[in-house]
Amino acid sequence: MTSDKTIKAGLFGENIGASLSPYLHKILADEKGIKLEYGLYENSNSPVEIIEKLRKDDLSALNLTKPYKQEFFNFVDEIDIHARKIRAINTLSVEEGRIFAYNTDFVGIYQALLENDQEVKDRIVVVLGAGGAARSAVYMAAKYETSKIIIVNRTLEKAKKIADDIGLFFDTGIKCFSYDEFRKDNKYDDFILINATSVGMKGFLEESILDDELIDGATFYMDMIYSPHKTMSMDFADKNGLENINGLDMLFFQGLKSFEIWTGLEFSVNEWKRAYRVFKDFVEGEK
Ligand code: NAP
Repeated sequence: MTSDKTIKAGLFGENIGASLSPYLHKILADEKGIKLEYGLYENSNSPVEIIEKLRKDDLSALNLTKPYKQEFFNFVDEIDIHARKIRAINTLSVEEGRIFAYNTDFVGIYQALLENDQEVKDRIVVVLGAGGAARSAVYMAAKYETSKIIIVNRTLEKAKKIADDIGLFFDTGIKCFSYDEFRKDNKYDDFILINATSVGMKGFLEESILDDELIDGATFYMDMIYSPHKTMSMDFADKNGLENINGLDMLFFQGLKSFEIWTGLEFSVNEWKRAYRVFKDFVEGEK
């Protein structure tokens, strides 16, 4: 993709009206001095219509979110190795008429942890949830060589399916528990705890997913949710002296990676740090 052409990008998903992605991509485009339009495509289009837009060059760059991260596998021309292993796609890019699919969520999770001084290698990662976001978290943990991965989910079969799918590619041990089983079994120390459930989301279930037994042994908590900016789980973590972050850093870094894929432009550390500050200031102003 050339940098002198306006990039027609967007997000396809449900309940995306409050998405920060349009602002994030505008900030990234400004930093690189390129033209980008970023639209929200919700309900009014079917996946087939979206694919048509990509094929007709009405759109050349797309992010996918809930519930479409697994729906596009049969519609695209090429799927990158990470998206194939995770079994979820969040980024589409059109290159010379062909639609390429990627997953940048796992990069976002990894970078968010790294930026908050959390090295994952040889640590234990506990993931709450077994939806699309949890898949990316489990893949990230396995790829970056954690010593053990634990998936805790209400529906145990879904956790086991992720363990089977991703366990195929890595030697890392992956254990699955229901919440009650984990509370009983939790003998783990110094683990990174990631909330990849929808619990805590604005307008969904604004309560804490955490309790004393779940956080026992955790040394860092990442809530993937960023709306609200401070979830009730994060409040609970604060009260218990557990260092924590919300999902904004993940959002920033997955978006940065998508943008790099679409444009073929890489950000230097100075460039992304500048964009990151502008993005954080923007979000602060929105609160
Ligand atoms: P999803 O596929 O719908 O999965 C939702 C998960 O939440 C499921 O595992 C579900 O458990 C669990 N859950 C729902 N209600 C629950 C409850 N009352 N008690 C316990 N567990 C419950 O959603 P997703 O796409 O993976 O997204 C998950 C979260 O990550 C959302 O909050 C989303 O906003 C966030 N996210 C953030 C970013 C970012 O960039 N920061 C990116 C992607 C996603 P069951 O399996 O038992 O139904």
